[in-house]
Amino acid sequence: MSKQLAIAFLGLGIMGVDMARRLLDAGFPLTVFNRSAGKAQALAAAGARVAATAREAAASADIVIAMVSDDTASRELWLGENAALAGAREGTLLVECSTLSTGWVRELGNAAAKVGCELIDAPVSGSKPQAIAGELNFLVGGSAEAVERARPVFAAMGRSVTHVGPAGSGALLKLINNFLSGVQLVSVAEAIALIESSGLDRARALEVLNAGAPGSPIVRTVSARMAARDYEPKFQLQLAAKDLRYAIVEAANHGLTLTTAATALEAMDRAIKDGRGAQDFSSVVEQFRKS
Ligand code: NAP
Repeated sequence: MSKQLAIAFLGLGIMGVDMARRLLDAGFPLTVFNRSAGKAQALAAAGARVAATAREAAASADIVIAMVSDDTASRELWLGENAALAGAREGTLLVECSTLSTGWVRELGNAAAKVGCELIDAPVSGSKPQAIAGELNFLVGGSAEAVERARPVFAAMGRSVTHVGPAGSGALLKLINNFLSGVQLVSVAEAIALIESSGLDRARALEVLNAGAPGSPIVRTVSARMAARDYEPKFQLQLAAKDLRYAIVEAANHGLTLTTAATALEAMDRAIKDGRGAQDFSSVVEQFRKS
């Protein structure tokens, strides 16, 4: 690598830990921070520096990347005495990869500008396997110059970068993406309950459906997990519900009602109430199963 951009990576959850690992493997000097320190251990053993606070991590970075749960988590990482904006040097590029509301992305962009930093929103499509393989797709909002600056880090973590438009547009497209995915998730859950209750051969039925028009990548992925009752989290149900909640608000801001999102969210919320929030989102099927 001709220029060794120093990277700070904040948030080492299911996705973040493997995204950070890709950066380390690509040779970037890497500092990591996670609220629960234990999750940084494997990366530390592989050569990452571990910071005690987000502020400390950001202080030595050319680019700061965040990958955390939601608006609340992002706010805690970026704003406040020990948070990243308090440490970032003027001119540092900030890349928010979490799936967030556009309202918060705008607020954060303004706070970043006040300390002389530019923020781009760069949520990802793809899940844990794509994070491990460096095959994520980045949906980016922000200036063309900032997107170019971030390109080497995107290249280490993903296979495509779509510059959607100005700041906030990556976040909005991601929420629309997850609205469509969330609705399909709940539809396939109902379909599986019907297949099972009616006594159809489930394996054969899913083979037909997955090979036919309804067989989108999300339907194929989650129907296999639902059939196997494999709820080891790749994408937690509580995060899928959060995305529908944000999408519903985005639509309301444009005078629209996402009725299918509201229905899907109801099913997800029932499952979360049953204690399935931290399970894979495919566990929503248990709301519909008779046995
Ligand atoms: P995750 O495993 O639950 O990780 C969440 C991360 O956020 C952890 O590092 C957690 O820290 C941190 N966090 C949560 N609350 C916090 C707070 N109040 N202050 C500071 N840190 C906090 O989630 P994930 O699956 O990696 O997802 C991360 C983001 O990517 C989410 O926005 C999600 O919607 C999005 N996404 C996920 C997938 C997927 O398939 N998993 C795919 C695309 C996009 P602790 O370790 O201390 O809890």
